[in-house]
Amino acid sequence: MVLLLRYRSLTINLTPLLIPKSHSFHTLQSFRNPKNLISIPRISSSSSSSNNPTTTTNRSISDAAKFAKSVLFVPPGVEIEELTDDMVLPGSNIVIGPFAGHSQIKEVEFVKSSARARDCPKDDRPEIAILGRSNVGKSSLINCLVRKKEVALTSKKPGKTQLINHFLVNKSWYIVDLPGYGFAKVSDAAKTDWSAFTKGYFLNRDTLVCVLLLIDASVPPQKIDLDCANWLGRNNVPMTFVFTKCDKMKATKGKRPDENIKAFQQIIRENFKVHPPWILTSSVSGLGRDELLLHMSQLRNYWDQ
Ligand code: GDP
Repeated sequence: MVLLLRYRSLTINLTPLLIPKSHSFHTLQSFRNPKNLISIPRISSSSSSSNNPTTTTNRSISDAAKFAKSVLFVPPGVEIEELTDDMVLPGSNIVIGPFAGHSQIKEVEFVKSSARARDCPKDDRPEIAILGRSNVGKSSLINCLVRKKEVALTSKKPGKTQLINHFLVNKSWYIVDLPGYGFAKVSDAAKTDWSAFTKGYFLNRDTLVCVLLLIDASVPPQKIDLDCANWLGRNNVPMTFVFTKCDKMKATKGKRPDENIKAFQQIIRENFKVHPPWILTSSVSGLGRDELLLHMSQLRNYWDQ
């Protein structure tokens, strides 16, 4: 519990994200090359600024550090003065630090479905929960991460969709598949149950390292996602926004993913003093898969130390 609180406070203090208005987040080109989403001033005093196209030559080190800190998720163990742009995961605002380690999933086993937080496995191993609106692409992302189809299928079986499903990964940590919210077919009573028991999980699960809040990049910002993000933020639950379906470059109706993401980020910026880390993914193309796993490894390893 002590570790968790320490992690939480660091997350809160070290993850300010403000996508500066001056930085283009909406052009197709910048979206295709996610590294262009953020331009990081080179603030390492040892590196020459003149050969780096992203350099802001007139900034002092402290200005550059402040700027970088306001844009990026800087994990524990990284000195802001030592930041260079190659430490940022492509397609994200996430800096990779010394706690990042072994991230690939070799083995995964379904452990348990629980109807209440207190029924979850009694275990000290860290866990990362995955949450999102129904149809956001949660099962696809879990399958993509673990590279096994049957895993997320397990939790899609009738009767298990409204349960907390624990999967043990590499015998060392858990992926927790939480019920999708915003089910059109679920009755109001079931919706109330969902929030009561899922909220209980967030508030009482001492081993919860972080919530991956999945946001469908192929649709404009949804109130229900923003409500969820705001609730997690108010309750100091560490979260990472995982934008899904980022391969859908041609909008069938409405706006393109890059425009939807930009709109979502703007709303979050208005609501949050401190903005969580974010990453672009696609379960179809595999975009962001390895990067997300690496991010998860550094969160876990720091929590676990
Ligand atoms: P869940 O209800 O959140 O578990 O969502 P699913 O994983 O079942 O996905 C819902 C729909 O979105 C399915 O038709 C998927 O094929 C589609 N989908 C999921 N992920 C992606 C993605 O990365 N790209 C695209 N283009 N479609 C996706």
